[in-house]
Parts: sequence; structure tokens; C-alpha cells
Amino acid sequence: RIIHLDGAFVPAADARVSVMDRGFLFADGIYEVSAVLDGRLVDNDAHLARLDRSLEAIGIPNPHTPADWARLQLELVRRNGLVEGVVYIQVTRGAAERDFAPAPDLAPTVVMFTQAKTIVDAPVQARGARVVTRPDLRWARRDIKSVGLLAQVMAKREAAAAGASEVFMVEDGLVTEGGSSTAFIITSQGAVVTRPLSNAVLPGITRLAVMRLAADEGLTLEERAIRVDETYEAEEVFFTSASNFVVPVVSIDGRNIGDGCPGPRTKRLMALYVGLARAGTGS
Ligand code: PLP
Repeated sequence: RIIHLDGAFVPAADARVSVMDRGFLFADGIYEVSAVLDGRLVDNDAHLARLDRSLEAIGIPNPHTPADWARLQLELVRRNGLVEGVVYIQVTRGAAERDFAPAPDLAPTVVMFTQAKTIVDAPVQARGARVVTRPDLRWARRDIKSVGLLAQVMAKREAAAAGASEVFMVEDGLVTEGGSSTAFIITSQGAVVTRPLSNAVLPGITRLAVMRLAADEGLTLEERAIRVDETYEAEEVFFTSASNFVVPVVSIDGRNIGDGCPGPRTKRLMALYVGLARAGTGS
């Protein structure tokens, strides 16, 4: 496996980061994940724009232009022979003597790697995902794709222990988002509902693409917060992410959604998104 570290492509065993790196000591960094399908990046321009926004929000200079990022990503995809999966990018503020306030001139640490993964024909597409709800224990700037993911790790451990593959995080009786995804419901009136963008959620790249596809299909879109009890009663429930595209949810907290099988509109949105990805938008 070949890793990209600070401008070099090196075997994984040789990719070393300082223990004084602020990513390690403070989770002082951000990350981004783009899907790869047929060896090509999916919706990558939008992911790189969000990467830039996350860096800007925490005051780390973006070490590359979008064109340079894309070149590095594709080189990594090529070197690893990746056909389907994801490219992970992480940028931390860099290594320095431990001090909460960072020196202004640190050199960011850039790590990139690929992960092979079946997305389109993943078993969860046919089977559907079981979801549990848990309190959202995260901080107040969830719009930043921070590497500080402890709350999600805790929630995902609980989900796994409950036999679920995703968790919907809940605040004030309302679903914020999935542990690593955007939550959607389709109501009995046929409306596709997801939470509006704010500091409470990550602006999902797949979310936006799927909303556009739903609108093209003539479905009604509603951007509003979703109550937990609404999810139980919904016609269909799904979640979206770069690493899974559109995943049908068949149960929440042990209650079947609809007839307990992946819903037809969810399957249609997945098929449309796969079509979009194969058509090679992005880079
Ligand atoms: N929300 C959270 C908390 C996430 O971690 C992710 C992806 O990892 C998403 C939403 C989905 O975002 P995207 O579609 O850009 O992958």
C-alpha cells in the first residue's frame, strides 16, 4: 500500500508522522473523503471545496490548489490500483512543542491514503441498514470536518453492539445526522426531508447531489429538522455519504421502516447517483 505523506509517495510502513503532531495531540486538523468509482473520483470538486472551507475555518493554510489536490489523489489511486473505494485526505496543523495556542508558521502535515471498498454492490444495498438513535454528544461546529471524532466513535460502538450499522444522532428530539452520513426520510406524502445546513451538521456533498436528483425526479424537497418519532413512521428512510452513496434503512431502534425492506424511491435515488458517478462529474 502506498501512502501520500507531505508531497512524497511512500510504502505504508515508511509513512511516519511525529508524535508531536498537533493532529495526534489536539485533533487539530481536518479531513475529507472522496469516493472512487471505475478508478475515477466522484463529485471531487465539491469535496475539495469543503476541504478548503474546513481549513479556512480553523486557520490552516491550504497547502495545495484544487488542481494539485486532484492530481495527487489520482496519482495515489493509480499507484494503489484502486478501482472502487475512497481516497482519504487529512491535513493537520503540523508538529510543534505542545502548546494549546499554535505558532503561526507551522507546516501542515498532509496524509492521504486509499481504501478499497465495494460501494455499488455492497450487501447493505440489498439487505438495508439497521440504525439506532443515540444522543448527539458532539461540539457546536459540526459543519467543520474535524478529525476530532470521539463522539462518533462512541456512538458507532454502541450501534455495533446493538447490531446496527449506522447511528442517527439526536438533539432535542430531532435527528441531526448519521454518525458518518446525512439522514433523510421520505414521508407518506412522498416528500424527501433532510435537515437544513447549519453549524449543527456537516454539509454533505452526497446530500446535495441526491437532493438535486430527487428534485429532477419531481419529488418534493423539505429542508427541516426531523423528529425521531417521524423516522419510525416514515415511508422510507435512507442515509447518504461519499463512502456508501445512498443506503436504505430498514429499521430504526428495532422498529421496521415500512415493510422492513429497502424502499423503491431510495433504490431509485441510489441508481441515479451511481449513474451520475459513472458519468464522471467532478474530476
Ligand atoms: N455527516 C457526517 C457527520 C459525516 O461524517 C459524513 C461523512 O463522513 C456525512 C455527513 C456525509 O457527507 P458526504 O456526503 O460529504 O460524505
